[in-house]
Amino acid sequence: MADCLFCKICEGKIPAKVVYRDTSCIGFDDINPQAPTHVIFVPLAHIETLNDLTSEDREKVGHLVVAAAKVAKERGHAENGYRVLMNCNRDAGQSVFHIHLHLLGGRAMAWPPG
Ligand code: AMP
Ligand code: ZN
Repeated sequence: MADCLFCKICEGKIPAKVVYRDTSCIGFDDINPQAPTHVIFVPLAHIETLNDLTSEDREKVGHLVVAAAKVAKERGHAENGYRVLMNCNRDAGQSVFHIHLHLLGGRAMAWPPG
């Protein structure tokens, strides 16, 4: 998608610190980290919001979660724990309209979220 920030990062047209890559998704450091580890995982395919997912996207979304768990383990967060989350639309605060999963780790987190 021509005007999408995360598509451009996937294509290498906008720089990002890529920390994970497979055939279906990439993970890169968040530009405004909210925890010592804050990695954004995005499918290479452009999907605007969670509302646009179909059953054909199951594999793509699964890749995001498995990739996040792998990076969390590599960074030493497995035992203490970490958080993964996806924001959808305005009430959740989605600001980039290409679905992505946040991995946050390295500090204790509050619940409920703000
Ligand atoms: P969300 O609010 O769930 O849509 O999350 C979007 C995330 O993308 C935010 O945490 C931003 O800090 C992050 N972000 C925005 N632009 C960039 C960028 N160029 N490189 C890395 N992360 C970014
Ligand atoms: Zn996109």
